[in-house]
Amino acid sequence: MTMRFLELQGGDKFPVLGLGTWMMGERTRDAAGEVKALKLGLDLGMSLIDTAEMYGEGGAETVVREAIAGRRDEVFLVSKVLPQNASRKKTAEACDASLKRLGTDRLDLYLLHWRGSIPLAETLEAFAALQRAGKIRHWGVSNFDTSEMQQLGAAPAANQVLYNLTRRGIEWDVLPWCAEHRVCVMAYSPIEQGRILRNRTLARLARERGCSAAQLALAWVLSRDGVVAIPKAARLEHVRDNRAALDIVLSGEERAALDAAFPPPGAAHPLEML
Ligand code: NAP
Repeated sequence: MTMRFLELQGGDKFPVLGLGTWMMGERTRDAAGEVKALKLGLDLGMSLIDTAEMYGEGGAETVVREAIAGRRDEVFLVSKVLPQNASRKKTAEACDASLKRLGTDRLDLYLLHWRGSIPLAETLEAFAALQRAGKIRHWGVSNFDTSEMQQLGAAPAANQVLYNLTRRGIEWDVLPWCAEHRVCVMAYSPIEQGRILRNRTLARLARERGCSAAQLALAWVLSRDGVVAIPKAARLEHVRDNRAALDIVLSGEERAALDAAFPPPGAAHPLEML
C-alpha cells in the first residue's frame, strides 16, 4: 500500500507511519546499523523521522544526520526541546544545536518534550520567533493532557503521546479534543517497546491472520483517525515488518476481539507517559 498522509493545519502533509529514534545514538558500535535502518525506512516511504535533543544526549540526532544526508527534502523531520531548555533564550539555542547535529537548516516540527516549569507563553514566543526565522515550520507539544492543551491558548500542529492497545486512556479525552481542534496525534511507543508482543490474544489473532503481533498492534494504531505512529526499529526485519503493517485492514471481528482483550477507557485517567 502506498503511504497515507494526514493534512496539518496550513496544508502540509504528514506521513501516518514514521520512524522513532529513542535509544539510537547511544553506542558508537551500533550507529552504522541504526543509520541503515533509518535509510531503509525512508526507502520504504516512512518519511517522518522523530528524534529529540534528549535521545542519546544528541547522539540520536547525529545518527539521523547521516541517514538523511543528501535527501533532506524527502523527510518530515521532528525534534524536541527539553522542558528545562524551553525558555525564550534557551529554546533558540537548543534548536540551533539540534539543527547543527542534524546537519540541516530547518525542522518540520519542533515539540516541547513535556510540560515543565517554564511558562508556556515563553516557549510559544520562542517557537514563533523560530518560525519567523525559518528554522522550524510547525510547532507542537508532547505528553500534554487536555487541560495543558487548553492552557496553550493556541492549537499546536501535533501532540505526541503514549498510545497503543495497552495504553488507551487518551481515547477518553485527548483524542477527541485533538480531533475537534485539528491537532495531529503522534502515537509513541506504538508497540509498547515490545512488551505488548507477549500478549496471548494479540499473538493468536496475528497467527490467525498470518502477520506478526507487532504488525497487528501497529495496524490497530494506524486504523485510528488523526493518528500517526512512530515505531522505533533498529533491526532491518523490524523496519520491513512495520512498513507492511500499513497494508493490514482489521476486520470487525478482529476489532471486537482486540477491544475485549484491551478495553477502551470507561473514565478519565491521568495521562500516562514513559
Ligand atoms: P516502540 O516503537 O513501541 O518499540 C520499540 C522496540 O520494539 C524496539 O526494541 C524494537 O526493536 C522493537 N520492535 C520494533 N518493531 C518491531 C517489530 N516489527 N517486531 C518486533 N519488535 C519490534 O517504542 P519507543 O521506541 O518507546 O517509541 C517509538 C518512538 O516514539 C521512540 O523511538 C521516540 O522517537 C518516540 N517516543 C517519544 C516519547 C515522548 O515522550 N515524546 C516517549 C517515548 C518514545 P529493534 O530496535 O531492535 O528493532
